[in-house]
Amino acid sequence: TNRPLRRALVSVFHKDGIEVLAKAFIDAGTQVVSTGSTASKLAELGVDVTEVSQVTGFPECLDGRVKTLDPHIHAGILADMTNEDHARQLEEFGIQPFDLVIVNLYPFADTVRSGASETDVIEKIDIGGPSMVRGAAKNSATVAIVTDPADYALVAERIEDGTGFSLEERRWLAGKAFAHTAAYDATINEWTAAHWPKPASIDDAPADADPVEEARLAKFPAAFTRTWNRAHVLRYGENPHQDAALYVDPLNMRGFADAEQLGGKPMSYNNYVDADAAWRAVWDFAPQIAVAVVKHNNPCGLAVGATVAEAHRKAHSCDPMSAYGGVIATNATVTLEMAEGVRPIFTEVIVAPDYEPEALALLQAKKKNLRILKVAEPPKAKQQFRQIDGGLLVQSTDLIDAPGDAPDAWKLVAGEPADAATLKDLEFAWRAVRCVKSNAILIADDMATVGIGMGQVNRVDSANLAVERANTLDDGRNRTKGAVAASDAFFPFADGAQILIDAGKAIVQPGGSIRDEEVFEAARNANVTMYVTGTRHFFH
Ligand code: 5GP
Repeated sequence: TNRPLRRALVSVFHKDGIEVLAKAFIDAGTQVVSTGSTASKLAELGVDVTEVSQVTGFPECLDGRVKTLDPHIHAGILADMTNEDHARQLEEFGIQPFDLVIVNLYPFADTVRSGASETDVIEKIDIGGPSMVRGAAKNSATVAIVTDPADYALVAERIEDGTGFSLEERRWLAGKAFAHTAAYDATINEWTAAHWPKPASIDDAPADADPVEEARLAKFPAAFTRTWNRAHVLRYGENPHQDAALYVDPLNMRGFADAEQLGGKPMSYNNYVDADAAWRAVWDFAPQIAVAVVKHNNPCGLAVGATVAEAHRKAHSCDPMSAYGGVIATNATVTLEMAEGVRPIFTEVIVAPDYEPEALALLQAKKKNLRILKVAEPPKAKQQFRQIDGGLLVQSTDLIDAPGDAPDAWKLVAGEPADAATLKDLEFAWRAVRCVKSNAILIADDMATVGIGMGQVNRVDSANLAVERANTLDDGRNRTKGAVAASDAFFPFADGAQILIDAGKAIVQPGGSIRDEEVFEAARNANVTMYVTGTRHFFH
């Protein structure tokens, strides 16, 4: 089934690595047909190359939009030479078949990421390339299609030794080619979905569709075609016996997944999960300077400070025991003072938008294993995916600017209105509780967490945990006294709230329970301030 590679069609945007092909073509005397700049490059390298326009008898036109779209090319790609009738027709039309097609496509994703204009982006939608790739892949019976420059060395070898590829090999190459064009079109669709929304004049919903449902679905046009580029394989997954890899969004390469690593060992799966949680948490506080210390996807401390070093001290002192082996994130440039504060603490990862040079030098020199990440842009994922068996759940990302999140929208349901400082702490607690796994209860004082109860299956346990951690992880002070508390969702009974009422001075929670009145009453009886937001921030 091997077919020697005697006649090749080459049209590549990325010319890297083409030298190895050129050498093989020359050595083996391969006939080569090629497009404009690929032909010039091959000719420069000494290949006797025929221009596509000579084969088609028609010039490249429309700024390159039409180069290879011609029967003289496509019949040569699509003729199945094991089929006598196809072979006879080619002869009749005077068309020669190709054995090998080497194509890579215009860099659509790169062009989008470079911030190019819409006109430039559209011009970088390759048309002739995918047509050749799909044609050659369909015709794997007799044609070998190569789209991945990583395969050039192999191709060169098979040209030089005259063996070509077996049918199984051609089919494997065809599969790679279809993956390439599928990902390419999915990326284009992701861009169109973001830039060309459905106009009001179009109603493509089924006749019996609910308009409200349709409007909500319209938010997820690209969710199911989105492609991810494999970036690298991770050492293992959540546990050592699990395989794992990182895939990145081709249109959002400045996000967390594309972080620049400035030191330390390679990131692990769990490092990515925790660091992403920490990164998301700190950006909820921008433009305030915030630091989060995260372990197992939950904060062990979170604080806002006048300086990044102060924010780190406050975040760390919430729970120094748990901070051991944690991930630190901040939304501000890491200063030397903060780096000195981090130095004595065993930390897995630090992530920040930037580092002062002295701070970076200190961390790199003193903490060889510390993974140091620099991320160019704040989190901006608009959708979240979660796989379930046989399906995919998609939701818009939870943001902290939902109606009800700002204190001026809160409703006072018990006690005196909070003074300015208490209100600031309540707002801090409300933002901070959002990044704690449900059921979440968070106690805060002076713009820092002092006790966090996370991930319990009832709100009483979470409240007890938060109070206990605030008081036992301490040097003897009563850290809940004068502190405020936030609950990520309503109290179904007064019991959970009562624990916080007994401990602190003010509470913020969404409200909405059928027993709200009992909960409010408990706060009123103790003259503890309670606000309801009307917004819930579950985090599972
Ligand atoms: P070159 O750099 O050789 O002038 O052009 C190579 C690029 O053109 C390749 O990326 C290939 O996919 C693309 N290409 C080849 N034929 C056509 C065509 O007919 N129309 C368009 N738009 N692109 C083509």
